[in-house]
Amino acid sequence: MDNCIFCKIIKKQIPCHCVYEDEHTLAFLDINPISDGHVVVIPKHHAEFMHELPSASASTLMLAVQKVAAACTTPYNILNNNGELAGQVVKHVHFHVIPKTDNSGLRGEWKVLQDKRDFKTVQAEIVQRMK
Ligand code: AMP
Ligand code: ZN
Repeated sequence: MDNCIFCKIIKKQIPCHCVYEDEHTLAFLDINPISDGHVVVIPKHHAEFMHELPSASASTLMLAVQKVAAACTTPYNILNNNGELAGQVVKHVHFHVIPKTDNSGLRGEWKVLQDKRDFKTVQAEIVQRMK
């Protein structure tokens, strides 16, 4: 994608601080880290959403996320935003690996939904959509 900042990084048109690279994947320091060592892991295949990736790309991506996570010396959060409403700014699939060293890092509120729908209905809907 011509106007995608992460595709430009893959094509080396924009520099990055790379920490890992393989055939399908690239991992580099986030330019605006929310904690020390915050890394973004991206597929070389351009797709906006995780579910749009070819399976070879998606599976290699997860292995790369695991490799980067294994290099964390502290607890960490893994975050993958899909779509604007979900907080995605760069429209190229990416996983954040965010070391948790202190009060910096991820502090999202875990707020339990008050108006839960019937679980059996929700379960059936999801299983149906996965067919
Ligand atoms: P998201 O909100 O999940 O789309 O996050 C996109 C992330 O990409 C942000 O944390 C940005 O700081 C990061 N980012 C944007 N441009 C660059 C860049 N040129 N190099 C490294 N990270 C970047
Ligand atoms: Zn892209």
